[in-house]
Amino acid sequence: MKASLTLFERSLQLVRYPEHLQHPSWQAWDAADEYIIEYLQERPEHSKATGLRIYNDDFGALTCWFAEQRPTWISDSYVALRSCLANLAFNNMAPEQISFSSSLDTITAPTDLVLLKIPKTTALLEQQLIDLQDSVGPHTLIIAGGKANAIQKSTLALFEKYLGVTTTSLAKKKARLIFCHPTGKLKHRSPYPTQWFSESPKFQLSNHANVFARQQLDIGARFMLQHLPKANGKTLIDLGCGNGVLGLSILHKYPEAKVIFVDESYMAVASAKENVQHNLPDALPRCEFLVSNCLDEFLNQTEHRSVDIVLCNPPFHQQNAITDHIALQMFSDAKKALVDGGELIVVGNRHLDYPIKLKRMFRSVSATANNQKFSIFTALK
Ligand code: SAM
Repeated sequence: MKASLTLFERSLQLVRYPEHLQHPSWQAWDAADEYIIEYLQERPEHSKATGLRIYNDDFGALTCWFAEQRPTWISDSYVALRSCLANLAFNNMAPEQISFSSSLDTITAPTDLVLLKIPKTTALLEQQLIDLQDSVGPHTLIIAGGKANAIQKSTLALFEKYLGVTTTSLAKKKARLIFCHPTGKLKHRSPYPTQWFSESPKFQLSNHANVFARQQLDIGARFMLQHLPKANGKTLIDLGCGNGVLGLSILHKYPEAKVIFVDESYMAVASAKENVQHNLPDALPRCEFLVSNCLDEFLNQTEHRSVDIVLCNPPFHQQNAITDHIALQMFSDAKKALVDGGELIVVGNRHLDYPIKLKRMFRSVSATANNQKFSIFTALK
């Protein structure tokens, strides 16, 4: 549902992508976006800043508001990219005004002004502050915004460590701003990607900063690994692949299986690819890697083929909101991608109502394994 962000007698129509699946009460901007806009509107001298950068703009509100300054947009989220493009179009703004970059791109052009929404993952914030070191100096102002309770002393310490003197604003509508004045002299090496080892088989799993389960195997994934489907000669999708641990295990166990790794995080898909390259280089020709919102990009391919199995350890939040709309889109997209008789295999917390939702979509649904915390459901098309 579109809603109007109205400030200083100017309005933007904004949606969260994908529009039709969102709860009607959810807005595509938050109090921190409003605070950043108000701060800059009251200080028009900043409109002359060159090299404007906008990091982690959840749904494009900041990018649309400051589009005339031709900002560079940087994010790890493909959903954020699609949201931003949708909102530029709704507001009759040309996407060519914006330079779009993923959080894996190296950008060294100098910048006078950086707007940064504090991401949910502290490691991603740390990586982005390190990335900024090459293009900031005493001429740069960094304005970061987030929920007041998400901005801790440790958050400010990261800005101080990697960039320079850092102060904060008062809280307004439970949001707070951070102001950082970089010295331009600090240079640190990134600690990311970080690695951990799976037990059996012993793979080295490398994880870029924003990857789910960056520090250890997720317990849902651990349970799924104990109950992988028979997949010899089959084509599978690892949907929401993260670092690719599920698909990698299939490639190892079934030397003729093919795996398509899909995630909305650029860092996740890059990690999955690096993990196949490092652990099973001979399996690379059996793999594809796709950045997508659920299976949008797979299903949009003109020559999209059907697959035999979809493996899914679904997410249950979007940014900071707890939601099952992504899991539900994953299930219905999986059904479209599967051959008749193909299987969607889902691991989830036992208390979730996935089986009820799956039974509305699939021919049959059964719990194929349970432990105290998780169930694995196999849904047959
Ligand atoms: N498969 C990995 C594992 O088992 O460790 C990761 C599972 S994690 C619970 C869910 C994954 O879904 C995350 O990697 C997240 O980035 C991805 N994700 C979230 N929203 C998505 C979306 N709209 N489309 C595709 N992937 C998404």
